[in-house]
Amino acid sequence: RVVSAAPASPKEEAIERALRPKLLDEYVGQMKVREQLEIFIGAAKKRAEALDHVLLFGPPGLGKTTLSHIIAQELGVNLRQTSGPVLEKPKDLAALLTNLEPNDVLFIDEIHRLSPVVEEILYPALEDYQIDIMIGEGPAARSIKLDLQPFTLVGATTRAGMLTNPLRDRFGIVARLEFYTPEELARIVKRSAGLLGAPIEAEGGFEIARRSRGTPRIANRLLRRVRDYAEVKGSGTITKTMADKALAMLDVDPQGFDLMDRKLLEAVVHRFDGGPVGLDNIAASIGEERDTIEDVIEPYLIQQGFLQRTPRGRVATLAAYRHLGVTPPTTEGG
Ligand code: ADP
Repeated sequence: RVVSAAPASPKEEAIERALRPKLLDEYVGQMKVREQLEIFIGAAKKRAEALDHVLLFGPPGLGKTTLSHIIAQELGVNLRQTSGPVLEKPKDLAALLTNLEPNDVLFIDEIHRLSPVVEEILYPALEDYQIDIMIGEGPAARSIKLDLQPFTLVGATTRAGMLTNPLRDRFGIVARLEFYTPEELARIVKRSAGLLGAPIEAEGGFEIARRSRGTPRIANRLLRRVRDYAEVKGSGTITKTMADKALAMLDVDPQGFDLMDRKLLEAVVHRFDGGPVGLDNIAASIGEERDTIEDVIEPYLIQQGFLQRTPRGRVATLAAYRHLGVTPPTTEGG
């Protein structure tokens, strides 16, 4: 993917950090989540208590990491950041937990990828701010209890269904992030262009927004690519024409679908007669991992009404046929 939703190089990440809103008021869209958090954060601050544990879920690039930073900022506490795959051993997590100051926020990205032994440590920590750790080995081994400072865990995952039940049950606040509307993304693009010092016309910004798969990370990346294009091929101002040409060059189609989106739709329509077809067959057919399809590619296609998830597999909708310029099969007896 030329412009994927996954975090990329350290340089990209540095730019991403610079574009991150710092306060809840600057965080565009996600009205329901923002409203909830505003109330719960306000209440926690008033009582000088730790905020309840928060689970954020939704496709990559929708603002989960950003929101965790904002939560810590609004609470006026430190943020410690880690991720499921990084925490290999119970002692890795124990070290983080025992170093937290009162009411701090611990952010665990990809929390569904915690190993079971590490997850085990987390339960009493979340419930009673305590951990049990093993000291010594063999017959001399014994477990001791350590008290922790009250803290807030913010967990992020692409799909809530991937968490074990006992872990999911320990989050008091569960928030699902939705794809952004073109209008919301246009506001994000405008703000980012301002921060980058890139001249942009409203229509140019809207064209980028409309074709960013409902995802702020993609909008910000496309903005930077279009800016490059406008600087080399135009006057430097991001106009609708410049956006159009640059996006076509990047293989982002008028609907905002990229190569992988089209590859998936084409496979379902051409190779599997429009479905229903199982995920594994699609994965084999387009040479992409099952998880990537489920987490990154298909949520947007489903949200946009081009693909349906049925008990028997994925089905291409009429909109998908139309998009590919293929005549849909006629319904029998009709
Ligand atoms: P995630 O953790 O869900 O993968 P991030 O929080 O890293 O996503 O967000 C990716 C980029 O999108 C960040 O650079 C951030 O600036 C931008 N972004 C995400 N959500 C918003 C938002 N609601 N308002 C403005 N910018 C946002």
